[in-house]
Amino acid sequence: MTGARGRPRPRDDVALMEGYHSPQVDVAVRLNTNESPVPPPPAFAAALDAELADLAWHRYPDRAAADLRRAIGELHGVGPERVFAANGSNEVLQTLCLTYGGPGRTAAVFEPTYALHAHIARVCGTDVAVGERDEGFALDLDEVARVLGDNEPAVTFLCSPNNPTGLVEPEAAVRAVVELAPGLVVVDEAYGQFAPWSALALADDDAPLVVTRTYSKTWSMAAARLGYLIGPPWLVEDLDKVVLPYHLDSVKQAAGRVALRFRDEMEARVAGLVEERGRLSAALADLEVDVWPSGANFVLFRPRSVDGADVWQALLDRSVLVRNCASWPRLEGCLRVTIGTTEENDRFLAALQEVLA
Ligand SMILES: *Cc1c(COP(=O)(O)O)cnc(C)c1O
Repeated sequence: MTGARGRPRPRDDVALMEGYHSPQVDVAVRLNTNESPVPPPPAFAAALDAELADLAWHRYPDRAAADLRRAIGELHGVGPERVFAANGSNEVLQTLCLTYGGPGRTAAVFEPTYALHAHIARVCGTDVAVGERDEGFALDLDEVARVLGDNEPAVTFLCSPNNPTGLVEPEAAVRAVVELAPGLVVVDEAYGQFAPWSALALADDDAPLVVTRTYSKTWSMAAARLGYLIGPPWLVEDLDKVVLPYHLDSVKQAAGRVALRFRDEMEARVAGLVEERGRLSAALADLEVDVWPSGANFVLFRPRSVDGADVWQALLDRSVLVRNCASWPRLEGCLRVTIGTTEENDRFLAALQEVLA
């Protein structure tokens, strides 16, 4: 278990892993991690302050996070027994993998998609079966049937809208995957509020389907680290056995509850971003780049005549940070830009125009 100098060695599979790479650089225009460009409304901070004034700092938080679960359930018209919340939807995904994945089990992903699905599964000791999307990055149901048939995955991940392509999975495709999957289907809807339909409509008390959501994007609360899933009650009970006790601190539980009082403001921010997405996509279409249609708060594009990685660096030199996907499989030369404020989007477009000229 120890190397030559007595340093403990990590598990062999962990030693070979790559970590999560998304540089946090100080720039004027930060459009790389799909956060909301604006904070929650000022009334949110005031309401949260009032809640925190009564906080019992010497006591452990409510382990069941009952009030938070009830509030989230009300938002979606389901009971609290169908809600599981955790530290970011990434911890939701991790708890799913710890509970339903693990050694001797397999998770299926369809690339290109959110890299953390495969990464979290592997960290939990789960084998990962990788299927490929078609040329337009849509799910190919023959490929899905092949991957699920060959690997019998305990967990199948979908992402709608898909990160980093922006594509919304058609409802028929999600229904078909739920039909085909031998185990649990996870639909990651981190960007669900930007999309025209939600798999929440397919979740019920029995279906082996969960839909994950996050406060990080539409709710303007990436700093809080809070996410959740809607799923069947028996699944929520299983997850509650696995997750660490008291994992959700009292401040976060309060923040999560209070945020939901500002739903109209959230929806207004989403509507504004969708409008900006249309404007930015149209402007990109006039440049020397390929653009993919997006149902999320980001757009994937590929410069036609200049190397993507060079464009990324040249944008950074102009203090504009986007996500560099240029070396990701199937996304050669691609960059992903988060929809920011009108001013940020203008600065991005001006910088890109200059770089491509
Ligand atoms: C941003 C994102 C998440 C969010 O993770 P949090 O841990 O809730 O911040 C989850 N899934 C996808 C696809 C994402 O892009």
